[in-house]
Amino acid sequence: MATTAAGVVAARCSSSSASQRGATAPAAQTNRILLKGGCVLSLDPKVGDFDVADVLIEGSRIAAVGPNLTATATTIDASNTIVMPGFVDTHRHMWQGALRNSLPNGLIGDYSREILGIRAIMRPEDVRIGDLVSALGAINAGVTTVLDWSHIGNSPEHTDAAIDGLRAAGIRAVYGYGSGVGAANQYPADIRRLRKQHFASPDQLLTLALAGGMNAKEWAVARDVGAPISVHAGGSLAGLETALGPDVTYIHCTTFTEGAWKLVAGSGGHVSIACPIEMEMGIGVPPIQQSLDHGIRPSLSVDVETEMPGDMFTQMRSVFTLQRMLALNPLQGTNRPQPALLTVRDVIEFATIAGARANQLDRKVGTLTPGKDADIVMLRTDAINVLPLNNAYGAVVLAMDTSNVDTVFIAGRMVKQGGRLVGVDLDRIRRDAEQSRDYVAGKAGWSKTRLGR
Ligand SMILES: [Zn+2]
Repeated sequence: MATTAAGVVAARCSSSSASQRGATAPAAQTNRILLKGGCVLSLDPKVGDFDVADVLIEGSRIAAVGPNLTATATTIDASNTIVMPGFVDTHRHMWQGALRNSLPNGLIGDYSREILGIRAIMRPEDVRIGDLVSALGAINAGVTTVLDWSHIGNSPEHTDAAIDGLRAAGIRAVYGYGSGVGAANQYPADIRRLRKQHFASPDQLLTLALAGGMNAKEWAVARDVGAPISVHAGGSLAGLETALGPDVTYIHCTTFTEGAWKLVAGSGGHVSIACPIEMEMGIGVPPIQQSLDHGIRPSLSVDVETEMPGDMFTQMRSVFTLQRMLALNPLQGTNRPQPALLTVRDVIEFATIAGARANQLDRKVGTLTPGKDADIVMLRTDAINVLPLNNAYGAVVLAMDTSNVDTVFIAGRMVKQGGRLVGVDLDRIRRDAEQSRDYVAGKAGWSKTRLGR
């Protein structure tokens, strides 16, 4: 297979190419794929979850979910796997993909100085490889949808490069157009060009949002082009009361007043909690309980890979354990009634359908529902870190990691198979990422050793 300049080749999962890549049954002349005999977590209450069932993919969509399906299709053996919706991340700064782990001990102030402070150094090609690396890492971890919070809009070339990186990776992404630095920064007005040039159709893997400030005028520009809004939020939301709506996702929310929570809940807004980063960088106590207390099922987000991994297993485990710690902490006293404890199934929902809702994509993804796009992960249950399978939800949240992500489909296209990304020239990606990292680190005056600063 020839690779493109991106190091990524298109790999349509038609029945014939699937058979070439070792699917277990002979390919029929159809565009159907049958995932046979998996433990299926549809996460759609109307469809149900199944100890053993099949999922039929037809083209880009899910055609059926249930036991003992029969179809003329390429069959993939799903026994020894959990079949579930791909994970959905609602906030990640993907332009930093080549800067992974570069600030392991940093607090939020260090991050603002050392990472946001070097935005002027970033060239379009650095943004592109950052987005590409981050997106491929997401796919590898079973994250099929991600909101790229792209506050690197230094110029139209920078925004176009980010979008190109996402497109090359083949991920489903919400491109969150954000402000950059420098004289060529066109934010927010350039969102009109982006809508026309890159996001004219709603029926594509890449959709548009505004990665905005707490500023009603910016939000009005987004709404003018039909783009949802994502903001890093805190405080009282004073002055924004009439601008709030169900098209807004509020990130972190660690300093929200009670009034702000009521406003967000009352307006149908969404919440994105970046639990590990909030705890690590001093952003505040992740507001899991406040969100739940106001009737909001939070979505989860990786935020930055400069200090945390890009998978949702880490996210789910953090949220599950922290909510329990805060609810059960005996030092807290007995004044407050103990809130209901989250279950492992709850946090799987946060990492899938709640994220799809926040990203305004729940009509397409987030559950295994016939008619929705086939964004599906198959997680190995016969690996040594999880066997034998005794509780599927528990295995996903409490035991699994990226090594269990065997197969990933995005809109019916197989992008990971047998534990390997499909059609990705990893050597080339690494060389491009290293070149970019060397350029940025050189300009920023960072250490050239691999032991860090
Ligand atoms: Zn952020």
